[in-house]
Amino acid sequence: MTDSFNTPKPIFGSEAGSKEYAASLDMADPLRALRDQFIIPSKANLASKTLAKPGLSNEPCIYFAGNSLGVQPKAVGKYMEAQLDTWSGIGVLGHFIELEGSPLKPWQLLAEQAAGSMSKLVGASPEEVAAMGTLTVNLHLLLASFYKPTESRKKILLDWKAFPSDHYAIESQIEWHGLDPKETMVLMGPDEGEYEVKTEKVLSIIDQHADDAALLILPAIQYYTGQLFDIPKITQYAKARGLVVGWDLAHGYANVPFKLHDWDVDFAAWCTYKYGNGGPGSMAGLFVHEKHGRVDYSAGEDGPKFRHRLTGWYGGDRSVRFKMDNKFKPIPGAGGFIVSNPAVIDLTTLIASLTAFENTSIEEIRQKSFKLTGYAEYLLLKDTTDETRQFTIITPADHHARGAQLSVLLKPGLLHKVAERLQNAGIICDKREPDVIRVAPAPLYNTFSEVWTFVDTFKSALSS
Ligand SMILES: *Cc1c(COP(=O)(O)O)cnc(C)c1O
Repeated sequence: MTDSFNTPKPIFGSEAGSKEYAASLDMADPLRALRDQFIIPSKANLASKTLAKPGLSNEPCIYFAGNSLGVQPKAVGKYMEAQLDTWSGIGVLGHFIELEGSPLKPWQLLAEQAAGSMSKLVGASPEEVAAMGTLTVNLHLLLASFYKPTESRKKILLDWKAFPSDHYAIESQIEWHGLDPKETMVLMGPDEGEYEVKTEKVLSIIDQHADDAALLILPAIQYYTGQLFDIPKITQYAKARGLVVGWDLAHGYANVPFKLHDWDVDFAAWCTYKYGNGGPGSMAGLFVHEKHGRVDYSAGEDGPKFRHRLTGWYGGDRSVRFKMDNKFKPIPGAGGFIVSNPAVIDLTTLIASLTAFENTSIEEIRQKSFKLTGYAEYLLLKDTTDETRQFTIITPADHHARGAQLSVLLKPGLLHKVAERLQNAGIICDKREPDVIRVAPAPLYNTFSEVWTFVDTFKSALSS
């Protein structure tokens, strides 16, 4: 199989600007059947809930907001029904047995079923991944275990424009240790006038703090610019200088492939409702490298030895979970970080969302994504020059440094006009005040023809 990490950037010739050409790309798309596994909201439905013009048809909208909330997989309804039948049919026995014909395992095994599927998307062994909680809560739990400030090493290196929740989590963890965030948080940003944070810049900041930083945490993909960081390089560099390294995969999960284990990442966390299509607030995932999840059972009288963490009974080994003897014996691996009895309904929607990846792979999805996002970029830039263009794409042009998102920075004053025109045409994308539109063509369900229509609408809005 093609390794996406070496795939050259797709090139589009002069004939690629026509609507027919977009349709031909759709015909040639090996993943085009996947779209049928999803329910795309209709233009009519969206119009009735917004200020859009009436008269829009029942046809699907153009949904380019999968970086914010993915659309609903058809499997969710089916799996939910099976789960409700299990609950109503056998009650508490559902913990240990499955109802005949149900695609779901007994409740006690569901978290493992989800972790096993997610592990393939992030490049980890099933034991290195846990399905649990929600992203920010999981970041707190991971930081509780991995952020161990000492007198000499206490700083945390993070993204200058970190998603607010991550920023708050890190800030409050620092305060929780009685430290001052002003002296302890090191924000890493781009050079003046730029948007991309160059890898060299990150490495030089790591060098500056090689003696006093405890931890580095960055988003795999920066939510605003869409930049995908060079995770293996930054991880290796920071670890060689004694830092613990964690990544937030919120915008990367189910979008780009990772090799978290091979890259020697210490820990990672992600939500599953963006490119993962798990549904609003769906259950999240976390990664703990195998070497941090080991349990030494021969440690002696006081019980097994394992990495310090905040614990709860569902992180305890299943064989002793119901002994109720108050002797915590963690599940080896990431499962040992689970705290509570997991929400079975949440696990059900998560597992249903993961069925979309059963007949494909994240590598295959990435191949389509290169083309789809590349095509959007090609069409946007076509027939424009730096002088005539009324916008700048602030997402890196290197396709290995981005996922399925382009952030388009408009000249001041254009955002509302453009956003209104897109909305009236039944195109959903995300606008960030004051001047940015984020477009996320999701390879699981978006088409080249949709990209074509989007750019056509966008450009005619600009020229009107
Ligand atoms: C979407 C997102 C979140 C959301 O956090 P929740 O705990 O799921 O509400 C947090 N951080 C980043 C970087 C995100 O992109």
